[in-house]
Amino acid sequence: MSGGDRAAPRGRGARRPAGEGRRGGGDTVLIVAAHPDDEVLGCGGTVARLAAEGHDPYIAILGEGVTSRYAKRRQADRAMVEALRQQCRAAASTIGARDLFLYDLPDNRFDTLPLLEVVKIVEALIARLRPRVLYTHHPGDLNVDHCVTFRAALTAARPVPGCAVRELYTFETPSSTEWSFGGGQRFNPTVFVDIGATLPAKLAALALYDGEVRPFPHPRSNDAVTAIARRWGSVAGVHAAEVFELIRKVC
Ligand SMILES: [Zn+2]
Repeated sequence: MSGGDRAAPRGRGARRPAGEGRRGGGDTVLIVAAHPDDEVLGCGGTVARLAAEGHDPYIAILGEGVTSRYAKRRQADRAMVEALRQQCRAAASTIGARDLFLYDLPDNRFDTLPLLEVVKIVEALIARLRPRVLYTHHPGDLNVDHCVTFRAALTAARPVPGCAVRELYTFETPSSTEWSFGGGQRFNPTVFVDIGATLPAKLAALALYDGEVRPFPHPRSNDAVTAIARRWGSVAGVHAAEVFELIRKVC
C-alpha cells in the first residue's frame, strides 16, 4: 500500500456522510487499534454486543501488521499484507462493525513516526464520526505500537469544548498487555462487559486471522482467549466478560 492510503480511509463507509454522536438512538463508538486482530482480542465481544443492541461501532486499524516479521519492511510480502486486510474486513463483518478504516503505518515501528502523524489520523476519524465512546490500547503494553496508539488517541480525544468523545477506555491485548513485565504501568480493569452471548462471534472473528492465531498455550489461541473471557466473567459474576480501564468519562 502506498503511504497515501493513510490519508484515505479504505472503509466500506467511506461513501457514507459524516456521522453524529448518536444516530438512530444508539451511540457511535470508535475502536482505535494498532494491528489487525487487536480489535477482536481487545473488544470483539463488546463490538458484537454493541452492534446487536443498535449502536454503531466503527473500527480503525492504524498499522499494516506483519511487516515487522521481515528484516526490512520492503521485503514483506505485499500479498500477505493484503490477505491480512481481507481477514480484518471479514472479522469486522463477523462482529458487526459498522465500518472499518485501514491505515498502513509501519508494523512495530510507530515510534519512528512523529506522534503528530498518528494523532492526525485519529483526529480526522473523530471529526468525521464524532464518536461518543472511544476504545483503544492500554499504555503499559509491551508492544510499542500499542503505546503510541494510546498516546495518539488520548491526544486526539483531548476534552476541548465540543469534544465528541465523552468516554475513553483502554482494553487489554493478550500477548502484549500481560507480557509487559518489569514494573511498568499495569492494566487495572474496572469496567466489565458481559459477552456471554457474543463470545462465539469473537472467537469466530479471531479464527479468521489464521496467520495470527497460535496453538494453546499461546495467549492468541482460541482456548486462551476463551479462558481469559471466562476468568474475567468469574470476577464480575457473569459467564464471560471483556474488561476495560476507564481513562476519562464526562457526563
Ligand atoms: Zn497489536
